[in-house]
Order: sequence, then structure tokens, then C-alpha cells
Amino acid sequence: MTKKFSLPRGTADILPDETPLWRDIEDKARKIFAIYGYQEIRTPVFEETALFTRSLGETSDVVQKQMLNLEKEGLALRPEGTASIVRSYIENNLDKKERLSKLYYIGSMFRGERPQKGRLRQFHQIGVEAIGPNSSLPYLDAEVIILAVNLLKSFGLNDFKLKINTLGSPEDKENFSKILRGELKNKSAHLCEDCQNRLERNVFRILDCKNEQCKKIVGELKIGSSYLSEASKTYFKNVKDALEFSSVAYEESSQLVRGLDYYTHTVFEISSPSLGSQDALGAGGRYNNLVSQLGGPEVDGIGFAMGVERILLALSQDPSFVKASLNCLILSLDEASLLRAFQILSILRSAGISSDMSHRFGSMKNQMSFADKIGARYVMILGEDEAKKGTVTLKNMATREQNEIKASADNLTEVIKILKEE
Ligand code: AMP
Repeated sequence: MTKKFSLPRGTADILPDETPLWRDIEDKARKIFAIYGYQEIRTPVFEETALFTRSLGETSDVVQKQMLNLEKEGLALRPEGTASIVRSYIENNLDKKERLSKLYYIGSMFRGERPQKGRLRQFHQIGVEAIGPNSSLPYLDAEVIILAVNLLKSFGLNDFKLKINTLGSPEDKENFSKILRGELKNKSAHLCEDCQNRLERNVFRILDCKNEQCKKIVGELKIGSSYLSEASKTYFKNVKDALEFSSVAYEESSQLVRGLDYYTHTVFEISSPSLGSQDALGAGGRYNNLVSQLGGPEVDGIGFAMGVERILLALSQDPSFVKASLNCLILSLDEASLLRAFQILSILRSAGISSDMSHRFGSMKNQMSFADKIGARYVMILGEDEAKKGTVTLKNMATREQNEIKASADNLTEVIKILKEE
């Protein structure tokens, strides 16, 4: 028997009925980015492995467990976008060209994960980075968070939760890790094995652990804000004031630290209650030392990344969500109507109306179930009756309202007017 090929584990085909949704999301994002003055950047899907280990941290889950590693070549498929963009920022001396580089990207990312709903091995992110000298400014942090929120709203998503926190300056972060280590030391026997190792190597990751017992211990911690300097507190207050001024609802969460090494100051995460266990739609934060850590100049940066698959999953849970579909499907009830359908179809397409016809004729009942499956906005029905009277029957599939309209192959003005209405 001939071997049948299957999809690689953890990947997905994006089929023709889904691609319009992807494009719609991307188009809306591009419009918003233009309004905000972000320019597109595209980096390769692989980079030197060390770029990711240096920027995300040797001990991060992404580096230790999730990177699809092209080991022989010393290359890795990118698990996220920031490191590549920072590499490109440095290599192209963008700090010398502009005061603040506002960049966005839309592309595939790769992580060697155990696939499950909302967790893939190749997935897609839409993200932004704002990088520049002396750009650690609270209103820029607020702008980036507001951009993330408005992006989701523009996709039609309204039911999501924004959590924010601050890690403070690198010195504050060091204090924070000392306090955490102190609090967790006498509970270490109850932590999972991974977290016992994390206690010395990177205590922040314990706050992200999914183990129930660790979550319980973390939940009982009294973290407070004693690790923050006055300057960091004022910085964070300005970010929060700007969000409030813009009526952006947020929740402050001292447990939110994000799994990557490079964050300082503001961090944030947006989740959707309709997504189950993989509920993060997107996340981001400030990374003031990453550029210099990777050999670049002393410049500051902030950014976020959103998961496109998660956004689409959340959208599909919304009952008011309608799949983008064909505007008009033409159905013929008898053989003679097929030619009429073919002529009308060509005129509709010339008028720029997305349309199609069933190339088989059949009973009304069979044809309508086909129309329902395709999800057309309107169905045009052509039969003996319509041919005699020089009409077409146009059915609005949402309201199920049906009208007979005067129409001939030379004159479809009335039909075109209806189909072009929003
Ligand atoms: P992260 O860089 O891990 O903060 O990821 C940013 C966003 O990308 C997450 O909030 C998710 O929406 C999405 N994401 C991360 N990993 C995956 C994955 N394996 N599969 C699908 N989406 C993902």
C-alpha cells in the first residue's frame, strides 16, 4: 500500500476556509501598527542557538525543554521574536539611525513542546518592540500595553484580563530574588524537584510553576513591594496612572514575573477566560539590559508578543463570531439553470463580489444543506420559474429572508446593490 503522509506532530495546516481569518487579523494589526508608527521587520526563522540562550537564560524552560535545536549547525528555529530583533537592531546599528525604533513582526515561532490545545510546535506571533537609548519612560510602557489591548479589541475580542507588575531595576530585581529565596528556603522540601533546583539558579521561575503544591506555596507568599526603590515605585505609578487615564482596566499581580531572564521594570500578561489551561493570549515587558547583554549599546527596550492561534481560539468561543465567508453562492434547481448561473457568476465576479456556484443542479433541500455548510452570506436560487419570469431568488442566510428580484444576465444592478451592502 502507498504510504500516506501525515502532519508533523504539533503543527497545523491552515486551510482555505481559515486563511481569510488569518489575513483579516493581520490586516487589522497592520492598520493599527501604522497608526502607532510601528514599521514591520522580518527576521529569519533560525538564529545561532547562543543568541537565545544568552538572552532568555540557560535555565529558562524555553531554552532547556522547548527549543527545536538544529544542533549540528549551531542554529535554532526561533522560539520567540525579541532576541532576533535585538540581534538585528545591534547588527544594523539602528540606535545610530533613530532615537526610538518601533518595530512589529508577524511570523512563525517554534518550540519543542508536548502538543495540546492552544500549544503547538510551530505557532504564530504578532509582536512589537520599542527600542532606543534613554527610552525607559513610563508613558512608553503604557503606550505598548494600550497597543496590546487595542489590538485585541480590534480583532473583536473584549473578554480578556490584563495583569501587570514591576520587577524594578536590576538592583531591585536582585533584592526581590533575595527576599523570595529567604521566604522559600524553609519550604523547599515541599517544592517540586524542578523548583528545588530553581531556588538557587533562578528563583523567579518558581512563581511560574504549574505544579499544584508549588502554586499553593507561591499563593501564600507575602511579596509586597519592599524590594523596590523609590524611583522604581514612582516609575510604576506613572505607568498605572497612564493606564487609568486611558480607561484600561488592569489587575496588579505581584506573582507575575514572566519566565524569561531579560525582564526588568514593567511586565504584563493578557489572558482569556475562555481558553482553559493555555489561557495566555499574549505577554510582554521591559528589557533594559538585553541589548547590552548581547553585545550592543546601552539602550532600553520594551515589547510584547501575542499568540495568533490563541486569539483565533478565543474568537471562535464568542457566539457572535462569524467566519468570513463567501458573499453569494448560486444554486440551480434544474439543468437549464446551470448556464444562467454561470453567466451571472461571471458578472458578479467582475463586479468584485466574492461568489461561487454549485456546478451540479439538484433539489432545493439538498442544495440548501450544501449552502449552510459553505457558510455563504447570500444564496441565489435559479429554477424554471425564475427563468420564465426573468428573476432570481435571493436568500439572506442570516435572517433567512427571501426575495424575488428582477434580474437578467445583462442587468444585475439591483442584485449587485444588495450584495454590496454591508
Ligand atoms: P511567551 O513568549 O511564552 O510569553 O508567548 C507569548 C504568547 O505566545 C503566549 O501568550 C501565547 O499566546 C503564545 N504561545 C506561546 N507558546 C505557544 C505555543 N507553544 N503554542 C501556541 N501559542 C503559544
